[in-house]
Amino acid sequence: MKPLRERLEAAGVHTLLVQFTDVHGVAKGKLVPLAHLDEVLATGAGFAGPSIWGTALPRCGPRSEYYARGDAATALPLPWWPGVARLVGNGVVAGEPFDACPRQVLRRARERLAAHGLTMQTGIEPEFFLLKRDAAGRWLPADDADRLDKPSYDLKSLPRQHGFLHALSGALADAGLDVLQIDHEDAQGQYEVNFAHDEALASCDHLMLFKLAAHALAEARGLVFSMMPKPFADQPGSGLHFHVSLWRGAEPAAEVLPAFVAGVLAHAPALAALAAPTVNSYKRLTVGESLSGTTWAPAYVAHGPNNRTALVRTLPGRFEWRLPDASANPYLATAALIAAGLDGLERGLVPPPAVDDDLFALDLGTIRARGIALLPQSLAEALDALAGDPVVLGALGPTLGPEFLRLKRAEWTEYARQVSGWELERYAACF
Ligand code: GLU
Ligand code: MG
Ligand code: MG
Repeated sequence: MKPLRERLEAAGVHTLLVQFTDVHGVAKGKLVPLAHLDEVLATGAGFAGPSIWGTALPRCGPRSEYYARGDAATALPLPWWPGVARLVGNGVVAGEPFDACPRQVLRRARERLAAHGLTMQTGIEPEFFLLKRDAAGRWLPADDADRLDKPSYDLKSLPRQHGFLHALSGALADAGLDVLQIDHEDAQGQYEVNFAHDEALASCDHLMLFKLAAHALAEARGLVFSMMPKPFADQPGSGLHFHVSLWRGAEPAAEVLPAFVAGVLAHAPALAALAAPTVNSYKRLTVGESLSGTTWAPAYVAHGPNNRTALVRTLPGRFEWRLPDASANPYLATAALIAAGLDGLERGLVPPPAVDDDLFALDLGTIRARGIALLPQSLAEALDALAGDPVVLGALGPTLGPEFLRLKRAEWTEYARQVSGWELERYAACF
């Protein structure tokens, strides 16, 4: 194969977008002329470390510089940005892999899988809204031409948003992703675009590419691309389900799935802090019905064969982890999932009995009587679970673990101090 620089030049690339992902799952980076590719691969593109969420790096001294060292395997011309190729960087500080870089966190977790002779494939399913703001600044679904009571698979909205959806799927396909399907989801103005599963780290890189493309292509059309977990109280939220399979070389390692799933269930409360890491996430995960029927978001720590009402939906040779939403950093959510699953494997955990029932149809009393736990109902509860779970917290490493808790507790406190419109309506004239 020709050297990377020649290949990029032949593709018309003159600039690199050296990209990394902050703790909040947001893509960050800078542009570097292709002439400096070798430095980016050897040393990395440099950033002011403390300016990046989640690094906890000092403001001065040798450890204040954060380098995103390019991973050559990720170089990819961006179809919607002519002449620019994305290159994903691994965090490096003072010449060493930086333990709090989310991509490094996942690389460490993969090494632990490899020590068991395993690799993991994930298929990440992004659900999202297309939004707009009205003259009063209120957020609305971009497509509010009709108010359907059951918008799932609606075929009137798809052609209206064809411009964006077609541009997005085309850009992903041009970038080498195998786009599988595009549909209208359960909420007004909500869609899902699926692309093929891949090795766990590559899938995270693909999701970040998806987000970059979607933001750019929506903005170019005057739309707002939103992966907020629950923008509208009366509509279902957006999930980011992970389809997970384990492999030994080219062979599926289906025999380890039960113990792995047992670990994922045992650590579910702490996993929530990483897979559903915002205040808003817990508006999605509540028990109950929306105007369009069920919200399909999990509320209970259970698994069942093809059971979409459970946290873990088991399928032949794989399982669907329905907990995450797109406010998660995908690298951290995947690393936490691996840590939880491996704990199940290493301790030989046995999953609780599979649930065949429609959990959304059972009342809470029945669910509790069956010993099925509720997921954390707030970010605060999930953070307490994370703080008390050395397996999941430990996966983040010595810097990011405490820093994640600090940042997210501050987020919770800031939220908890707000006085909402609901509270004023309910209490202002009441007492
Ligand atoms: N939107 C649902 C969620 O928040 C999932 C719907 C589906 O199963 O596709 O998880
Ligand atoms: Mg869906
Ligand atoms: Mg799904």
